[in-house]
Amino acid sequence: MARTPLIAGNWKMNLDHLQAVAFVQKLHWTLKDAKHEDGSVEVAVFPPFTDIRTVQTLLDADKIPFALGAQDLSAQDSGAYTGEVSGAFLSKLDCGYVIIGHSERRQYHGETDEVVAAKVQAALRHGIVPVICVGETLEQREESGPTAVSVEQLRVALAGLPADADVVIAYEPVWAIGTGQVASPEQAEEVCGALRAVIGEVLGADAAERTRILYGGSVKAANIAAFMREPDVDGALVGGASLLVDEFAAIIRYQKHVGV
Ligand code: PEP
Repeated sequence: MARTPLIAGNWKMNLDHLQAVAFVQKLHWTLKDAKHEDGSVEVAVFPPFTDIRTVQTLLDADKIPFALGAQDLSAQDSGAYTGEVSGAFLSKLDCGYVIIGHSERRQYHGETDEVVAAKVQAALRHGIVPVICVGETLEQREESGPTAVSVEQLRVALAGLPADADVVIAYEPVWAIGTGQVASPEQAEEVCGALRAVIGEVLGADAAERTRILYGGSVKAANIAAFMREPDVDGALVGGASLLVDEFAAIIRYQKHVGV
């Protein structure tokens, strides 16, 4: 089964709603000018919550074929949870995806594997595909090897899900996020292959075959093609480079790079 590649831009806490409009329009025009074939790669943008309504309206009005996602959601559906955002609200704003368990949320907001699992369930309750982030720190890699931490994080996140659950996994080694210290394609493949095996064990062979696994961590136009040649890497979760129109467009157009 061919998995449609997914190139996802995590804007983090960057670009207000006005800047978001300019950015999305420019990205769309840049891809059109380059005669990018829309169906070849799925493109998703993950703006801050305050931009989502504006970006949704723009995508809809201008028929821009980008998917929309949020960077987090509440494990709860409604009620007295000040500052939280329900999956129900995101779903009404046409968010097809939500990032869950990004290392910055695990690190700065104390999100445990159990919280991540509860948020995955919340996303699925509202028909939103969770982009489940896993990855090890440098110390963890030295202590327990390249795959152990990500494998355990994924096992907890997937526990109890039905075999037909629609999820995306992002392998993001913490030491490669925003550092410029990119993993090698072989390192990414080693962990992504192990994660696919976990999906197979927990959700079954069909799920392992259809689920997309992304690599994230200092992805740029210059290194994306090598990752995409790996059999278990189905796309990228891009941070810093997703804020640069030309760079992000070149990442999306990786199939045109030499040697792919
Ligand atoms: C990220 O934060 O998900 C990420 C991969 O960031 P960067 O591309 O900047 O390393």
